[in-house]
Formats: sequence, C-alpha cells, structure tokens
Amino acid sequence: MTVDNLKETEEFVSKLEKKCPSEPEFLQAVREVLDSVIPFMKGKKRYKDQAILERLSEPDRVVMFRVVWQDDKNVAQVNRGYRVQFSNVLGPYKGGIRFHPSVNLGILKFLGFEQIFKNSLTGLSLGGAKGGSDFNPKGRSDGEIMRFCQAFMVELSRHIGADVDVPAGDIGVGAREVGYMYGMYRRLSNRFDGTFTGKGPEWGGSLLRPEATGYGVVYFLENLLQQHDRDIDGKRFLLSGSGNVAQHCAAKLLEMGGKVLTLSDSGGFVHEPDGFTAEKLEILREIKNVRRGRIKEYADETGAGFHEDKRPWAVEGDVAIPCATQNEIGEEDANELVKNGVIAVVEGANMPTTYEAVKILDAKGVLFAPGKAANAGGVAVSGLEMAQNSQRLPWSSGKVDKELRSIMDAIHEKCVEYGGRNGCVNYLKGANVGGFVRVADAMVDQGFM
Ligand code: NDP
Repeated sequence: MTVDNLKETEEFVSKLEKKCPSEPEFLQAVREVLDSVIPFMKGKKRYKDQAILERLSEPDRVVMFRVVWQDDKNVAQVNRGYRVQFSNVLGPYKGGIRFHPSVNLGILKFLGFEQIFKNSLTGLSLGGAKGGSDFNPKGRSDGEIMRFCQAFMVELSRHIGADVDVPAGDIGVGAREVGYMYGMYRRLSNRFDGTFTGKGPEWGGSLLRPEATGYGVVYFLENLLQQHDRDIDGKRFLLSGSGNVAQHCAAKLLEMGGKVLTLSDSGGFVHEPDGFTAEKLEILREIKNVRRGRIKEYADETGAGFHEDKRPWAVEGDVAIPCATQNEIGEEDANELVKNGVIAVVEGANMPTTYEAVKILDAKGVLFAPGKAANAGGVAVSGLEMAQNSQRLPWSSGKVDKELRSIMDAIHEKCVEYGGRNGCVNYLKGANVGGFVRVADAMVDQGFM
C-alpha cells in the first residue's frame, strides 16, 4: 500500500470514528475493506464523485428497540433488540440474528457492513443487514427462549418481509429460535411468505441450510489449496468453536480425509491429537445441541485433553479455521501459527482475525481467506431457500449441494480475478474488491440516495 493510499484510509477512518467513537469492530471492518478498495478506486472517478465509500459506511437505517419478556419466575426482563439494514441495492436486506450478551450497535454494524460484500460475492440478489439482542440464551429454559423470541419478533415483524428484509440465524440463534421467531412473525403478519431462512425443512426450510456455512468453508478451502498445489487429504486442522459452523466444517473435513485436532467454546478447547472421528463428533453434537452442555463435558466423557480458558492456536497443525467469534486470533496467536508452519487461515466465523494479526499472516506468506468469502455458503443457501419459497417447491439436498459448490467455486474464482498476485492469491484483496465492484456499480446505476 502506498503512503497516499494509507493516508486516505486513515483520514476516512478518523472521520468515521468521530461519528462512531464507540464502535471499534465496525471501524476495524471498514478499515480492512478500505485497505483493498482505495487502491482499486484510483482513476475510477465515478466512485469518488458519487461518494460510494461514504454512502456504503452509513447504514440505510438502524432500528433499536426494547424487548420485554417474562422469565420462569414471572419477573419481567428487559433486553435491547436491533436490526441494522445496511444496504438493499442488490436485493432485500439479508443477514442473521445474533443473541449474545456482547451484542451492541458497533458489533451489529460491523456484521451488517461485512454482509453487504459477502452477499454481493454470492452473485445472488441479496442486500446486507444484521440484527440481534444482548439477550443471553445460556441457561434459559425452553419456555424463556420462546417468550423472548416472541417478544423480540413483536417489534421486528414491522420491519421485515419476503421482499423487504429476510433474517436468519447466527450465534445463539439456531433452528429452535428461528422456529419461535418465524411462528410469531407468521401469526402477526398472517402471511406464510418465507420471511426467515434456516426454517425447518418441513415448513419451508432448505435442506442443507444447517450444514451450508461449514460445508461452504471446506469447498472454498479445497479450491484455495488446489490453487496452490495442495489438498485436504491428510492435513491437520485447528478449529475453534463447536456450534453450527464448526461442527459441519469438521464433519466435511473428515469426509474429505482431513484430520480435525481441536474444537472449542468460550470455556476452553479440546485436543484430539489423532483427530476427531465421526463417532466423537456425534458425542460432541449430542452434548452441545441436545443437552446444550459445555465442551468440557466432552473432554470429561471421552478423556480428550481439555485446555481451560485457552484458544487452540498454539497446537501444531497445517490449517487454522476459526469458527467461533470476532477477534479470536490476535497478534500473539498469529505469530504462534506462523511459528508452527500453518499454511493457511480460513475464516469460518466473521472477522475472527484482528487487523494486526492479518498483517502478520500476510507478511509471513500465510494464505488468508476472509470470512466474507469463505463463510458465504450459509447466506448462499439462504438465498436458495428464498428461491425455493418463491417457487413453493423444495429442492433435493443433492441439488442444493451442487448449487452451493458452484457458488463457492465462483467466489473463489472472483477472489483470484481481483486478488491474483504472481501465482499466490491475496484473498483479502480479492474478496473485498470482488464484493465491492458489484455493489458500487449497482449504486452508480441506481443514482444518488
Ligand atoms: P453458534 O452459536 O452455533 O456457535 C458459536 C460457537 O462459538 C460456540 O461454540 C460458542 O461457544 C463460541 N463462541 C461464541 N462467542 C464466543 C466468545 N466470545 N469466545 C469464545 N467462543 C465463543 O454460532 P455459529 O456457529 O452459527 O456462528 C459462529 C461464527 O460463524 C460467528 O462468527 C457467525 O457470525 C459466523 N457465521 C455463521 C453463519 C451461520 O450460518 N450460522 C454464517 C456465516 C458466518 P459458547 O457456547 O461457549 O458461547
């Protein structure tokens, strides 16, 4: 990056920081995109004249609301709900709902901003959005979860619709929560129009939607390794997280001959030096999804090594796939990964690598695939779910899988097209510029607004 470009990025971010002083994750996401996009925009006057970057970094609107619900002791509880509708220039707003105590406006703005470029990369007609609440589902009864989801939807239902805004799951929001929210939306709107993806397969959900993000990560990774004359077979993988993305990513890696050495949750990580087997993944699934337990219970039951309050990045492996949350690989972790000879970091989660850690990986020649490209399989199949709902026809899992594969292949191609660098692809640049061009051109075509 030239000094001029760097200066332009810094000026832009510092202006934005004055408007959003307490949104560090949002500023981080914007800075990361600018690093790639500002050099690309040089000489392309139409983007500058139309203030594309300024417009893209301001959401179309933010809805913030009170959610009041009754706990099991009949006491009223109050949480804050949000929907950030960032851009609908390419299609209806689309992006997940997150329930986690860390949720705040800055985190949802970073996620909504990233979602614009990710959804653009899928090639489908999808705008960018994100929503959620600081509600903590951990330890809550099924009745409490249902009442919270219903209360949340009482307000959210006014702002969504099949051609307006179509939410989905994210951290803390899986099939159960989507069911309760969609049920309430249907009741309030008196419409069964598919305004939510990740629905149950018997009531409008797409087959393979639960698996799609994790499988998509592996399809992308397969392309990335092939591009650099390598493959998945026999490689050792370090995964974090043990939720939807991590579980399905691990299962697909196993199927393709990979060795998954680690999985984690916010309490620590488990280490299987010989790799998880399908049977062991099933034990983990039962603990996490059925019993809603902690990963430590997996270690207690199977005798696997458990490392409390630690992340798995110091374990020796070939590829790291963070699948938990933002900023889980910092500078120290990146140095550890480099020291251990990791060849690639592929983001299953959204922005799990800090800005500084990305710079270290890049400087040391570690391939780095950002989440907006690598984890786009989830929203891609959500787009296919919307298509099935419009057709009123369910597709077979074979058809969905084939479409998912071809979308992930096309995203990889786009990264190579915009990020090619003497035989070694800069995936960050490729994904940022590839995602940006389609959105920016659509904004130019559709005029100032
Ligand atoms: P889940 O809720 O199913 O699982 C999240 C996992 O991450 C859990 O193991 C959780 O552990 C762990 N985790 C969450 N917060 C933290 C934290 N602060 N520190 C350490 N571990 C944490 O979520 P998903 O698997 O759906 O999502 C994981 C990531 O993938 C997120 O970044 C999400 O935005 C991204 N993503 C998800 C998509 C999807 O289709 N679901 C699509 C694209 C991206 P614990 O139970 O202890 O909290």
